[in-house]
Amino acid sequence: MSPLPHFFHTLIIGAGAAGMMAAARIGQRGFSVALLDHAVKIGEKIRISGGGRCNFTNRHLDGGDASPYYVSQQPRFVRHALSRFSAQDFVQLVEAHGIAYHEKHKGQLFCSGSAQEIIAMLQEECRKGGVSWHTGCRIDAVCALPEQADGARFEIRSSSGLFCCRNLITATGGLAVPAIGATAFGYELAKQFGHSIITPEAALVPLRFENWTESGLAALSGIALPVCIRTGSGKTAAAFDEDLLFRHKGLSGPAVLQISSYWQPGNSITVDFAPDTDLAAALCHGKSGQKIQLNTAIRQLCPHLPERLLDCWLAQPAFAPYAAHKWADVPNTLLQQLGRSLNEWTLLPSGSDGHKKAEATRGGVNVKEIHPKTMESRLRPGLYFIGEVMDITGWLGGYNFQWAWSSAVCAADAVS
Ligand SMILES: Cc1cc2nc3c(=O)[nH]c(=O)nc-3n(C[C@H](O)[C@H](O)[C@H](O)COP(=O)(O)OP(=O)(O)OC[C@H]3O[C@@H](n4cnc5c(N)ncnc54)[C@H](O)[C@@H]3O)c2cc1C
Repeated sequence: MSPLPHFFHTLIIGAGAAGMMAAARIGQRGFSVALLDHAVKIGEKIRISGGGRCNFTNRHLDGGDASPYYVSQQPRFVRHALSRFSAQDFVQLVEAHGIAYHEKHKGQLFCSGSAQEIIAMLQEECRKGGVSWHTGCRIDAVCALPEQADGARFEIRSSSGLFCCRNLITATGGLAVPAIGATAFGYELAKQFGHSIITPEAALVPLRFENWTESGLAALSGIALPVCIRTGSGKTAAAFDEDLLFRHKGLSGPAVLQISSYWQPGNSITVDFAPDTDLAAALCHGKSGQKIQLNTAIRQLCPHLPERLLDCWLAQPAFAPYAAHKWADVPNTLLQQLGRSLNEWTLLPSGSDGHKKAEATRGGVNVKEIHPKTMESRLRPGLYFIGEVMDITGWLGGYNFQWAWSSAVCAADAVS
């Protein structure tokens, strides 16, 4: 005889940021709720986030339309949830727990101590709600039940036993960093219930380029500088003013992580090293009567560009013969070419570092099939999706965690 299943009003698969937030809220309203997670150690993504300080939200989300900060086939989907439970609402929770925080830049709020404090806060909220925990729990099967007298609509077979529940919330996140427990489980579950998946791809990820070492760019490894970076055109155009970091294998830093969420294979990216100056014009118009060398001129026009980068730039075959020439003697065609190369450095990425090194996943469960106010499936009553498993990817800067908190609150309020 098979054992009787444990009944819960709500079962949540995935005890990460969104799962814990939802569980705490449902439990505190007096409903029975359990969190199932295959990982033994909970909240690992929170622990490693923001360099160990967890950039838990962003102040820019308070006030206007939040959709420009999210990449999705339907970015407007985020609007309701992010106004229902705002960045300020999460800040109030953080303050209520006495967690010290500070704003870094561009509205980004970080713990002043450690990301562990956010995990402890969520665990404490879950404890107050009497949430049941099943960690190290392998999910073997999920099936829908015919409507039953006790209201159970789903049955879950797992290594921790048999469960049934009225509401099933999928909070299994995206594919970033499989080493700490990311899986495609949420997508498979969604497909099982008829949902479509927007192809998941690595986002907020360093980019790679062919012949990087051969072209001498690997030698620039370690250089960081502010740039404007762009990709796409028309409706798919994206641009960010952020810091760029040269690496041995390609480019990284906030500029590249941000643009990677918009970059499509086959498309180029363009880097502007001097966004405030039209260097072609400045070099041509300023040269008259100038006795200084071209390399000195460019240093004067772009004092923020690191020496190592400029040396490498001027060592390119097109510019090297003129680098030590008097500025006034350099032909305008060459000056224009040099200026444009620094204002519009165009590169064709060959790929990215992939899910292993990504901070997020773009794509996921198609939000057209989810109610934006409740996060409930439009195809299967009682089935919910929250957090990163959906086709919602935030910018770098606390936007992904805020999506996890806000979508969790919407689902929690809907089931309770
Ligand atoms: C290195 C790094 C740094 C980051 N820094 C920031 C930051 O500072 N600010 C920010 O806003 N965002 C940051 N992010 C993104 C942020 O961590 C995620 O967007 C957020 O954690 C998503 O929350 P979630 O609850 O949807 O998924 P997760 O927090 O990933 O939780 C998913 C849970 O589901 C569990 N799970 C997965 N598969 C299964 C399965 N088959 N069975 C059972 N359980 C399963 C996992 O073990 C995990 O506990 C960072 C991400 C990374 C990788």
